[in-house]
Amino acid sequence: MCEKCARDTDAGISRSRRSFIHLAGSGLGLALSGVAVAKETKPPPKPQNVLSPDAALKRLMEGNARYVDGVARRHDFKHEREALAGGQNPFAAVLSCADSRIAPEYGFDTGRGDLFVCRVAGNFAGTETIASLEYAVAVLNTPLILVLGHDACGAVDATLKALKDNTSPPGHIPSLVDAIAPAAKAAMQQGGDVLNKAIRQNVVDNVGKLKSAAPILSAAVEQGKLKIAGGIYRLTTGTVDLIAQG
Ligand SMILES: [Zn+2]
Repeated sequence: MCEKCARDTDAGISRSRRSFIHLAGSGLGLALSGVAVAKETKPPPKPQNVLSPDAALKRLMEGNARYVDGVARRHDFKHEREALAGGQNPFAAVLSCADSRIAPEYGFDTGRGDLFVCRVAGNFAGTETIASLEYAVAVLNTPLILVLGHDACGAVDATLKALKDNTSPPGHIPSLVDAIAPAAKAAMQQGGDVLNKAIRQNVVDNVGKLKSAAPILSAAVEQGKLKIAGGIYRLTTGTVDLIAQG
């Protein structure tokens, strides 16, 4: 065990991890009723983050409006640090592109412990990302997942080019192309503004993928404990347009 892991073992977060591992090994065919056993029993460090799925989405969009208007709040990072040392209860999870111009914590004017953010070029839900989001929902009780695409996405553009030219990009980039290809192909068939259509389709596809991700996410959606929405971040204004909800 490395020094960091040894330290983590003493931290509150690792209790959640152990619960999750226990949960994963306990025959996960169970619905979320079984998950309740694994949840944090101590009071949430941020009581204001205990929200319904709809209230969480409302808060997220209100934060985006402040960011767009240039009236973002001043966050008290110093004092929050202590409250969050022993745990976390983010009110939303965001699956965003890795693009440096997209910063979910800024874009939704949130503090530490508010957003559980997974980022990958092309904002698609691969296995590790689904597992991360399962952790957020099953262990941290996060009531909302937002899949966030954006204008002029380089990963989507590269996928369209690779498909059009029938070429394979260098290195490990083909793994991104493979993941985005279904949305890109659908957009190419439609014609018109293919890049924007592919960006949108990629968000819609991944919202659908997460909603049907059994057994944890699909059950949470069914029970009304989780909402999964999709949005597009507009580069020039900072506005997030919601395009899919459920
Ligand atoms: Zn991108």
